[in-house]
Amino acid sequence: MTNTVATVVLNKGKEQSLKRFHPWVFSGAIKKITAEVKEGDLVRVVSNSNEFLAAGHYQIGSIAVRIVSFKDVAIDRDFWKQRLSEAINLRSSLGLLHNEQTNVFRLVHGEGDGLPGLIIDFYNGTAVYQAHSVGMYHIRHLLAEILKELLGDQLVAVYDKSDKTLPFKADIEPENGYLLGESSPTIVNEYNNAFRVDWVEGQKTGFFVDQRENRRLVREFSKNRDVLNMFCYSGGFSFYAMQGDAKMVHSVDASAKAIELTRQNVELNYPKDPRHEAYVADAFDFMRDIKDKYDLIILDPPAFAKHRNALSQALQAYKRLNARAFEQIRSGGIVFTFSCSQVVTKDKFREAVFSGAAISGRKVRILHQLTQPADHPVNIYHPEGEYLKGLVLYVD
Ligand code: SAH
Repeated sequence: MTNTVATVVLNKGKEQSLKRFHPWVFSGAIKKITAEVKEGDLVRVVSNSNEFLAAGHYQIGSIAVRIVSFKDVAIDRDFWKQRLSEAINLRSSLGLLHNEQTNVFRLVHGEGDGLPGLIIDFYNGTAVYQAHSVGMYHIRHLLAEILKELLGDQLVAVYDKSDKTLPFKADIEPENGYLLGESSPTIVNEYNNAFRVDWVEGQKTGFFVDQRENRRLVREFSKNRDVLNMFCYSGGFSFYAMQGDAKMVHSVDASAKAIELTRQNVELNYPKDPRHEAYVADAFDFMRDIKDKYDLIILDPPAFAKHRNALSQALQAYKRLNARAFEQIRSGGIVFTFSCSQVVTKDKFREAVFSGAAISGRKVRILHQLTQPADHPVNIYHPEGEYLKGLVLYVD
């Protein structure tokens, strides 16, 4: 039996998605809750005819329960330990745990690891814990302790960085800080490229781990090309391009901090290399006048749509951005274009890029269709987990 606070009874017929293991219960599906619940409490979910369906963390909002188990078992220390060790085993089988070239990867990817509401990125000994639900926030100390048990000497510190990711309706005032041990900003390796990562000051957990394989693919397309890395953040695509013998690389980001980080990272990997220059600028301004200047353009913008109601505006932004690249890239050029908005589906994104291509009137062909890497697994019952979409395009 689960050790839950209350029982959530669903309306008749609303048990179907849980029977197909979809890990969310929407508030509209709920008939009643048998006791008073607080955000973050563990609840049992039953059908209208009182059949056990699942157990999960309760939260206020349209997603009312995030399911952690479809079995009627105790959600205790052993339960969490089992989940975390499964997550670690997967990374180990991907060869990421003791890897000489790469010591940065995603250790826990929410629903993809049966741990909805939790992200953990691993930076050469430091795990950065990011709770997106109050339930996962409440158990942060316990999970940090279990991680240490499982990883031993490989884990030096666990840093909690949940202040910006917890639902704002939750009435808690999270403060970031170390849950275990202590460490300082460090240099990590990804395919032997060095990155300075600062989880305290940096965006997200400090680094965009999810572009690892796509950065590597950029390297393959870079030989003798003039490259624009738009929305560069810490500059990863730029020095993979340099590694691939690009002729010239320009990195652009609206954030001065990001450009500083890019400069430091390029210097770490290619000291005093005259091929690279970095600019603080807005993407739409910078791309107003770049006619025939580049023959490889990377567009990796932030999530234009964080919520469903921003969707149509976001699609317009993707269309305009991509149109600008297609209009101005040299003939025979390559565009790497991405969307990391969860609410923008693969099809919608492709449509937006298609509309951008049509505006430019150029002949555009799809060479590769990209997604997130294997340490960001997608739970097959939760297709929403496939959030990163990318296209590699050839422009005649
Ligand atoms: N490509 C990066 C990740 C990009 S994240 C990597 O591989 O690590 C998105 C970046 O876009 C952020 O660094 C953010 O500062 C920048 N950004 C947001 N709005 C922008 C705009 N209008 N113009 C230029 N950069 C912008």
